[in-house]
Amino acid sequence: MPTYEYECKNCGYKFEKFQKMTEDPLKICPQCKNQSLRRLVGIGGGIIYKGPGFYTTEYRSEEYKRKQKEEESLISKTSSSNIPSSSSDKTK
Ligand SMILES: [Zn+2]
Repeated sequence: MPTYEYECKNCGYKFEKFQKMTEDPLKICPQCKNQSLRRLVGIGGGIIYKGPGFYTTEYRSEEYKRKQKEEESLISKTSSSNIPSSSSDKTK
C-alpha cells in the first residue's frame, strides 16, 4: 500500500496517509478543515513504495496467479458442459 504525503496550503500542516491506488486524493485538511490540501509529488509522483518495483511485482504475481487459476478452472470445466461466457466481468 503506497503512502501519500499531503500538505495544507492554508495552515502548512503536513502528514502522510496510507491509501489505495484507487482511492481519491484527500482534499480537506484535518487541521483547519479547509479544502486546501495538496498531494506532494515525490518519488513516483507522490507515492512512496517500500522497494523498487514493489507494486509492479505484487501486481504481476497477483495477475499471474489469477490467470493461472482461470486457466485451471477452464480446463477442469471443459469436461463439464457449462463454461462461463466471460471471466473478465468480475472487475468490480
Ligand atoms: Zn490546514
